[in-house]
Amino acid sequence: MDQKIGDLLGAILPADRIKTGLIDLVASASDAGFYYLRPQAVVLPVSEAEVISLLAFSKQHHIPIVFRTAGTSLSGQSITDGILVDLSQHWNKITIENSGEQVRVKPGAIGANVNTYLKKYQRKIGPDPASINAAMMGGIISNNASGMCCGVTKNSYHTVKYITFILPNGKRYNTELPADYERFEKESAPIYDQLKTLRDSILNDQAVYDKIRQKYQTKNTVGYSVNAFIDFKEPMDVLAHLLIGAEGTLGFIAEAVLETVPDYPEKLTGMLYFTDIYSACQAIRPLTNAGAAAVELMDRASMQSIENMESMPAVIKTLPENAAALLVEFQGNTQDELKTQMDAFLAITNELSLLQEAEFTSVASEQASFWKVRKGMFPAVGAVRASGTSVILEDVAFPVDSLGDAITDLQILFKEHGYTRAIIFGHAKDGNIHFVVTQAFDTPAEIERYQLFLQDVVDLVVKKYNGALKAEHGTGRNMAPFVETE
Ligand SMILES: Cc1cc2nc3c(=O)[nH]c(=O)nc-3n(C[C@H](O)[C@H](O)[C@H](O)COP(=O)(O)OP(=O)(O)OC[C@H]3O[C@@H](n4cnc5c(N)ncnc54)[C@H](O)[C@@H]3O)c2cc1C
Repeated sequence: MDQKIGDLLGAILPADRIKTGLIDLVASASDAGFYYLRPQAVVLPVSEAEVISLLAFSKQHHIPIVFRTAGTSLSGQSITDGILVDLSQHWNKITIENSGEQVRVKPGAIGANVNTYLKKYQRKIGPDPASINAAMMGGIISNNASGMCCGVTKNSYHTVKYITFILPNGKRYNTELPADYERFEKESAPIYDQLKTLRDSILNDQAVYDKIRQKYQTKNTVGYSVNAFIDFKEPMDVLAHLLIGAEGTLGFIAEAVLETVPDYPEKLTGMLYFTDIYSACQAIRPLTNAGAAAVELMDRASMQSIENMESMPAVIKTLPENAAALLVEFQGNTQDELKTQMDAFLAITNELSLLQEAEFTSVASEQASFWKVRKGMFPAVGAVRASGTSVILEDVAFPVDSLGDAITDLQILFKEHGYTRAIIFGHAKDGNIHFVVTQAFDTPAEIERYQLFLQDVVDLVVKKYNGALKAEHGTGRNMAPFVETE
């Protein structure tokens, strides 16, 4: 490029919304994952017209553009060596509709702020990533993020009602407007036709159809949300749902309307300690059947990572070496609803290999302290890693009934590959676990160790258990090489 990129971008945006200084580029080179790519420029568009111009610029100059909202992604999907489009400052409008039954959001609205607006209606958005205090709607939708209570049915894929998007060809469509369906068919005919052809080929192949149906019964953010092909008939609806979880690779999400879910006022939260992680996994199904809204798993090593932090339950330090915990929360509209769930829980306690009697609390500060245990794990490991190593957080899902066996196999892999300080925690109710390892990449031997380990993990998750290599964090650069395998 003969002319400087900043000067060229000056034809689209005012100078104060184009950043090309080294300090800005370095500051934007990382998201929350461990990859590093320095962009050539960071731009802050304020309108759809500017985004359309940026898409045309990208095409004309062969420079990729990547959108970023909060940049809390963990798989390397919100970094680029092209142009980084920062939406975090100017796209934060939130509009409550139908008395809180639905909410209209721009991509830069912070998830927790949307929930604050919805609070008085006792509603919230379905997706509930642990990062919700920072994560923004563009990223939450584009990663198809989920979390503690969201499961497979309340994520963005299932709760986005309408979506307004702009394609790389500069065309803007809104699924709320019936006329846009016809316009999409005419104006973007090649895309319309290919979506239709793909859909027909899937519907005509029972094995592929069944495979897709089965794959999306578990949380799954590997590759595109191809379940859209079997869930929707209209090509524009298929595309709108492929955009959810597409990590910005198919187009720009300008606005979305989400159907909200109840935010139950009554909660009972408890930490259940088990003799070992296998026994904890055996408790997931009975707890879910008793009505638990959240069942979060923590192995002993993960609890060790936070036991010295302020306000952690004292009992954690005293647990035996192989112990594991489940953070369990029951939720309801009324005390009576909670009592019914608690009765169901008490009826199954004999089946559980508990280390001590389960105690539940309705005191908000105590509940917050339990959640602090669970949410502090990933940052805690990052804080104590050896200098020069990266913290790698994987995000896999297994069928719930196989979770105990799968974790046992995973622990064998940790040993075989020398990951002595690996930790496991996660959303057990959905068979979704995160494991964290620290890894150096400064020698060929260390790189090879990680490669061999990851290949074994891929075989375990995909081939042995038919699970998902990414359940909620998105494919990113991290799992891109393995999408085809899955
Ligand atoms: C401590 C911690 C805990 C986490 N816990 C969870 C969890 O429980 N569950 C979970 O699912 N995730 C979790 N995450 C991962 C991450 O926070 C979520 O996926 C979050 O939703 C990402 O939002 P963001 O605003 O940071 O998106 P970003 O990282 O900024 O972007 C995510 C992707 O969306 C694309 N994008 C953003 N806006 C648009 C747009 N308008 N149009 C098109 N593409 C767009 C970006 O290009 C990128 O590919 C966690 C991360 C951290 C650091």
